[in-house]
Amino acid sequence: MVEQYVEKPQVCPKCGGKVVEIIYGEPTEELFYAAERGEVMLGDCCIQVDKEGNIISPNWGCIDCQETF
Ligand SMILES: [Zn+2]
Repeated sequence: MVEQYVEKPQVCPKCGGKVVEIIYGEPTEELFYAAERGEVMLGDCCIQVDKEGNIISPNWGCIDCQETF
């Protein structure tokens, strides 16, 4: 499992590709187009939390290798 990043990494730690924000929740039409342009990635509809309520879903994704972190 890849380490989670609070701040957006400049490049993908795995392949050096482009890093974009992962958007959770019901995507708007605008977000769909942004995702198609490779500007954001769409996550699951629900953010995953652990037992203490901390968000454990990845914040960032690489549009080149699809890695999330
Ligand atoms: Zn990558």
